[in-house]
Amino acid sequence: MSVDIDCVVVGAGVVGLAVAREMARAGHEVLVIEAAEAIGIGISSRNSEVIHAGIYYPPGSLKARLCVEGRHALYAYCDGHGVNTRRTGKLIVANTDAQVGQLQVLLQRGRENGVDDLRLLDRHQATALEPALECIAALYSPSTGIVDSHALMLALQGDCEAAGTSIAFHAPLLAAKVTADGFLLDVGGEAPMALACRRLINAAGLQAPALARRIVGLAPDTVPRDYLCKGSYFSVSKPVPFTHLIYPAPEADGLGVHMTIDLGGQARFGPDTEWIETEDYQVDPARADGFYSAIRNYWPGLPDGSLQPGYSGIRPKISAPGEPACDFLISSPREHGVAGLINLFGIESPGLTSCLAIAKHVRELIER
Ligand SMILES: Cc1cc2nc3c(=O)[nH]c(=O)nc-3n(C[C@H](O)[C@H](O)[C@H](O)COP(=O)(O)OP(=O)(O)OC[C@H]3O[C@@H](n4cnc5c(N)ncnc54)[C@H](O)[C@@H]3O)c2cc1C
Repeated sequence: MSVDIDCVVVGAGVVGLAVAREMARAGHEVLVIEAAEAIGIGISSRNSEVIHAGIYYPPGSLKARLCVEGRHALYAYCDGHGVNTRRTGKLIVANTDAQVGQLQVLLQRGRENGVDDLRLLDRHQATALEPALECIAALYSPSTGIVDSHALMLALQGDCEAAGTSIAFHAPLLAAKVTADGFLLDVGGEAPMALACRRLINAAGLQAPALARRIVGLAPDTVPRDYLCKGSYFSVSKPVPFTHLIYPAPEADGLGVHMTIDLGGQARFGPDTEWIETEDYQVDPARADGFYSAIRNYWPGLPDGSLQPGYSGIRPKISAPGEPACDFLISSPREHGVAGLINLFGIESPGLTSCLAIAKHVRELIER
């Protein structure tokens, strides 16, 4: 087999683009193949655009390490590339004694993860920051912020192209086969082609596990079962009286219905949690009832009738409903035994925050 190209990255979401940039800047010849017509129209365009501090994740996990590293890298990258960010800060609020206990656990965990600017506030300190907030305590994270995720992806694309990387659109990878010196790829779409490459990086988001199952020569038991967990957002027609991001104490299956603001100043609430079988992005207006009751725990002043269905995103879960959230699963030759192959599974939140750190980690794994 002749090798046509050194490295193929599948998927032009924020993670695939960051990985392609990292590999290209390290001197690899890279091609990105993307099934859709443009960059970033998968999970990467359906999220909260929050730059997470790194508070929630178990110490020592990839999520903890790559989120903290990724946050620092992302703020610096955005500053250097004219991508808008804002360090809004965030308050995680407690309304019961049990939730105050949760905040103390989060404070400890965040510090172990290297988030060194967290502060536990009492009611007076929290309402001094946000007078409309209802709480008995709050955990304050000054380094949490927001980012223009599309501008970020355009900047990554620009860096890729400047480093000689092309992105082929309408180019779905249908299947692949492990060969003696790499991979043979069956690429479909408008200009179907067979392509040979030495390294293959599967950053196909929601489709990553299904795609990995179509790699002949990869042991099926190295591919996790995948689940779809939808999160719906509601926007609010009235101005909100908050400048920080407001989160409730986390719930068993997620961060709870929180309030984030985009760089245009528009507030949105969500995402909630709904396990689904097939991709579906409709927002059911009836879910508003659950939003009103959850939001009024921390903002009793939310006016009746002010929530409107917004958009939704789908989390690429590799943990089943009711199970604790899994770590990112970045499956390398050490796990599956196929030289040159990296599969990125379960890249849910904080994948946007972590994208540059994930990219560096992937390069180190593949060059090992
Ligand atoms: C509701 C929600 C809220 C979130 N909020 C945040 C947040 O506030 N902060 C944060 O840090 N993270 C957040 N995340 C996580 C973050 O959005 C994701 O981790 C990140 O966007 C994943 O990017 P990706 O490139 O892996 O996937 P994607 O953006 O989905 O990209 C995968 C790409 O692969 C392409 N593809 C699929 N199959 C093929 C194929 N066979 N051939 C070629 N191309 C293919 C798809 O078309 C797609 O463009 C959130 C996620 C969700 C769902």
